[in-house]
Amino acid sequence: MKDNERQAIEALLARHGFRFSKSKGQNFLIDRAVPRAIAEASGADGRCGVLEIGPGIGALSHELCRRAAKVVAVELDTALPPILAETMSGFDNFEVVSADVLKLDLSALVREKLGGLTPVVCANLPYNITTPVLTKLVEAKRFERLTVLIQREVAQRLCAKPGTAAYGAFSVFMQYYTAPELCFEVGPESFIPQPKVTSAVLRAELRKTPPVKVADETFFFRVVYAAFALRRKTLVNSLMTAFGALGKDRLTDIVVSCGLDASVRGERLGLEEFARLAAALREAEG
Ligand code: SAM
Repeated sequence: MKDNERQAIEALLARHGFRFSKSKGQNFLIDRAVPRAIAEASGADGRCGVLEIGPGIGALSHELCRRAAKVVAVELDTALPPILAETMSGFDNFEVVSADVLKLDLSALVREKLGGLTPVVCANLPYNITTPVLTKLVEAKRFERLTVLIQREVAQRLCAKPGTAAYGAFSVFMQYYTAPELCFEVGPESFIPQPKVTSAVLRAELRKTPPVKVADETFFFRVVYAAFALRRKTLVNSLMTAFGALGKDRLTDIVVSCGLDASVRGERLGLEEFARLAAALREAEG
């Protein structure tokens, strides 16, 4: 089955003289069961307007258009819209926007193209821009849910618990704004060309209210990023990179006043502890 699908896709691409671009993170899905499962996991239905990033030749777009009211797909590669015009000709609820997703005003896009619908994101992301894209999608505060196929290690990092090697500042960012969960894994054999890594589908429901009380989110994340700045050092030493003006003794007192051990490492702290630490540091900085 997969061989037939691969041959049909290769013939289509050859007919259009298409060449894969590594820098655009192009790995197209060839196993139809995978886009079907991703679209299912996204929960897209007749009330939803889907933003797809990087439709490629439309493997996932197909499955999304069968479920959602509308699919708007942002594609950077100008060689792909002519192929999509062919592969997506049976759907009148599909629209391609030729653009770099990182440069788009997503709020305007949602307002103009998906007005009146529940906006969700579903995509097989170009892996080289996973972090900036996810950051932008979360910060847009427009989407109800993000369902993305990404590198498995990244998905594991985003879902990681405090105290594990995979846990980092971006885990805190995602877990503060969303409830991320790893849905299922996808092997390299499901793509052409085959990526070197295993992939995984991450579903992240955007939180309506933050899981912890934070007075100033910008300051909170300044603390989080400082706590992970020197991973092998103690929290106090790592905090010195951004809050050095307070001095090491004062920082130690602040860490201890939050109920933490003076020699604790940043990676041990959960959202509650970071919120407490940020409040104490904010007060100390005046
Ligand atoms: N959705 C298709 C599939 O599953 O077969 C293709 C996924 S492929 C991993 C990533 C897609 O994102 C490619 O079509 C690539 O051209 C597109 N892309 C890469 N960088 C982009 C960017 N900055 N903005 C929009 N699309 C981008």
